[in-house]
Amino acid sequence: MSTVLVLNSGSSSLKYRLVDVEAGRPLAEGVVQRIGEEESTFSHTGAPGWAAGEGHRVADHAEALEFAAAAFAEHGPDLEQAGLTAIGHRVVHGGDRSEPAVITPEVLAEIEELQVLAPLHNRAAATGIRAAQALHPELPHVAVFDTAFFACLPAASRTYAIDRQVAREHRIRRYGFHGTSHDFVSARAAELVGRPRSELRQVVLHLGNGASVSAVDGDRPVDTSMGLTPLEGLVMGTRSGDLDPAVLLTLARAGWTTEDLDTLLNRRSGLLGLSGVNDFRELTRRLAAGDPDARLAHDVYLHRLVRYVGGYHALLGGADLLVFTAGVGENNPALRAALVDRLRPLGFVLDAEANAAPAQGPRVVSAPGSPVTVAVVPTDEELAIARQTVAVLR
Ligand code: AMP
Repeated sequence: MSTVLVLNSGSSSLKYRLVDVEAGRPLAEGVVQRIGEEESTFSHTGAPGWAAGEGHRVADHAEALEFAAAAFAEHGPDLEQAGLTAIGHRVVHGGDRSEPAVITPEVLAEIEELQVLAPLHNRAAATGIRAAQALHPELPHVAVFDTAFFACLPAASRTYAIDRQVAREHRIRRYGFHGTSHDFVSARAAELVGRPRSELRQVVLHLGNGASVSAVDGDRPVDTSMGLTPLEGLVMGTRSGDLDPAVLLTLARAGWTTEDLDTLLNRRSGLLGLSGVNDFRELTRRLAAGDPDARLAHDVYLHRLVRYVGGYHALLGGADLLVFTAGVGENNPALRAALVDRLRPLGFVLDAEANAAPAQGPRVVSAPGSPVTVAVVPTDEELAIARQTVAVLR
């Protein structure tokens, strides 16, 4: 039996999911949030029991993992009986690595070294890895990198047009993120249409709180919207996506510090900055109520999407497939309809009924005969991480 515990360590949270890799399904999952704050919260859904709570202060990731271990012991499933064979860690930045890696001291050192490029994310991942290794020294630990799928981006896509010496010295290039999702979803979309991925040209839209789009030609990505960090590209829940770099210079000259700018672009921008809310459901409610800020936020979001999908369509020499995934992409038919409508002149034709149907699984939502097939494919990053963990250990 191959059961993998997948860990996603954020700066103040720890998410986990126990995955039965053969069956391709979760056995239990949970999350500890507000780690290090006055009052933390946690929830665990196992078999047969579940638990949720708040109030207790969880000091750090090691204690969060102890919480999880206690929840497994009390509410099931029993990790030993479930056949736990490995722990797979989601690591945001993997630098130039194109494959998952069994975590040795050298690999961990490298993850920590990449903190320069992903300060919040990689520090949290390294903390989670150390804590998990201390709790389960008998198990192999594997790092699955969010950048790995994009390690082979063509030079023209991965290069910023800045002084090449500076770029080399500081490892400044486009890395791409959400790679586990783009890889998983493009493979699943190919299955859905019954053709090998190697024969397909796909534009994949991962629209969640974070958002990115990729152009995938066969089995390899040729471009993606996130760059050096997950800040570039589309408008996101709280992140700006693309802007003129001189915005930063202007604010820096006005006295803004690096920390101020980081907070502005990562936490106070995007849908939140424009409308006051980062959740797309709430944005939709405000749109319906005629809120002008929500309208503008929606329009800027859509405008950016049209530019990217249209551009990637050209870059691929014509896409065969447009695939929607993640929270907004999977669950917001109005947004899908608005985008595909704008792309109609390029050969994207929606089936309004199929698009609006409250279905859950992978499905085609374009009209029969649409030159480009439009599909909705739920992402499952934890399953992808668990599969890659097992694969690398084989
Ligand atoms: P994610 O980061 O993939 O969890 O996506 C979060 C985003 O998806 C938020 O903006 C949510 O409003 C949106 N979302 C999640 N579930 C739904 C749903 N059932 N209907 C509409 N929007 C949703």
